[in-house]
Amino acid sequence: MKKTKAPKKSEFAYERKNFWKDAPVAEQKDAMEYAIAYKEFLNQAKTEREVTAWTEKLLKKHKFVDIHKKAGAKKVYSIFREKTMAIAILGSEPLSEGFNMVAAHIDSPRIDLKQNPLYEDGNTKMACMRTHYYGGIKKYQWVSTPLALHGVIVKQDGSVLNISIGEKDDEPVFIIPDLLPHLAAKEQYSKNLSDAIDASKLNLVFSGMVEPSGEEKEAAKAFALKALNTVYGITEADFLSAELQLVPAIKSRDAGLDSSMVVGYGQDDRVCAYTGITALLANQDQKPKRSMIVYLSDKEEVGSQGATGAHSVFIQDFVSDLMAYNNEDNNSANLRKAFINSYILSADVTAAMDPNYPNVHEKENAVILNFGIGVSKFTGSRGKYGCNDADAEFAAKVLKLFTEAGVFWQTGELGKVDEGGGGTIAYILANLGARVIDCGVGIMGMHSLYELSSKADIYSTYKGYKAFLVNK
Ligand code: MN
Ligand code: MN
Repeated sequence: MKKTKAPKKSEFAYERKNFWKDAPVAEQKDAMEYAIAYKEFLNQAKTEREVTAWTEKLLKKHKFVDIHKKAGAKKVYSIFREKTMAIAILGSEPLSEGFNMVAAHIDSPRIDLKQNPLYEDGNTKMACMRTHYYGGIKKYQWVSTPLALHGVIVKQDGSVLNISIGEKDDEPVFIIPDLLPHLAAKEQYSKNLSDAIDASKLNLVFSGMVEPSGEEKEAAKAFALKALNTVYGITEADFLSAELQLVPAIKSRDAGLDSSMVVGYGQDDRVCAYTGITALLANQDQKPKRSMIVYLSDKEEVGSQGATGAHSVFIQDFVSDLMAYNNEDNNSANLRKAFINSYILSADVTAAMDPNYPNVHEKENAVILNFGIGVSKFTGSRGKYGCNDADAEFAAKVLKLFTEAGVFWQTGELGKVDEGGGGTIAYILANLGARVIDCGVGIMGMHSLYELSSKADIYSTYKGYKAFLVNK
């Protein structure tokens, strides 16, 4: 029988490359090593406040200074309301000529405590906590799973208590119990997945002991209040102003037989925050023409509004402060020029092809794990509603830059047309006239407690941001 040769692909065709097949062995090793500190970051910074505190500590180690505290430095940062921040390394050109920015967000979907959370459940005589979820969660994922309580309580005397219960091995965790399958027929199985667990049934079992005196009307609640007062010196009224958040009490870890992946909570979007921060630090010894900025925004998961969301004036004020700091005229026309001349990567995760649900993606236009940083020219839903759509000139510039830097990259959109969709902070910065394109790590199980990412893509994203920040 005659042997037939496999058909050859056209030399003019485009094909994305698999990092584990085509990357040099040394780079594959770098990718595996890079993930070690990344996993530690995920464990230590599970809320936006914790990310800003963690980042400030790291920046101080690298001799960055608070822009409002010291003049004359080239490496500066600013933190606003403890929840959002921007970091910059000043270049030799004036900022009005434009800067290079990587913009990520540091809030993640979670479950907050209500302002008046504590109650004694009449049926079980146990102390429970009422909750209010934050961002786009699938409620069924948050029941019967260990949760840790993070946040701050500001007491009436002005003192601030940082709370973290459930992260250390010897600390208790919290549970929102799910209904047993034996009794779930009417209550859950007959309903749509989205309705099966009502938001009002996401109450936390807080404690079980009771005040022994027998005089208290609600002995379990009384016990919880007394315990809280003993340990933290707080009263029930202190909850009314507090910010307390329930996050998965799990550690991020390697995933897969080959340990080539990372599984952990909050990778949307702390993977892009971390790769952005470390990319900037890796460029510290460069003498860039354009200033390099990393922006970490808050409230992305709920629409980016408010003082710390990307819609706020914070980032414009930061650039304005940078101009003044750099002895440039920061009048409003100059500030607008700075944004208009800027290049920005909207650094956010995207949905990667899922082996169980390939039908919600369109294969040739979806990001696949292990093929590098995912670039999305546009976002939005249906007929590109609500999108940022990067212009072809800028998209070509970014892809060329990645190719020249040896970065593994691919393009993809979030799901098949009309399947759903989503947005990022890209359009908010593009509204200021900046050239903005979305690019970040592809994730499986986004917004779940165990988001899955590839070390190949995390490292490629870091490398891509690093090359982008120093580009001319
Ligand atoms: Mn995101
Ligand atoms: Mn998200």
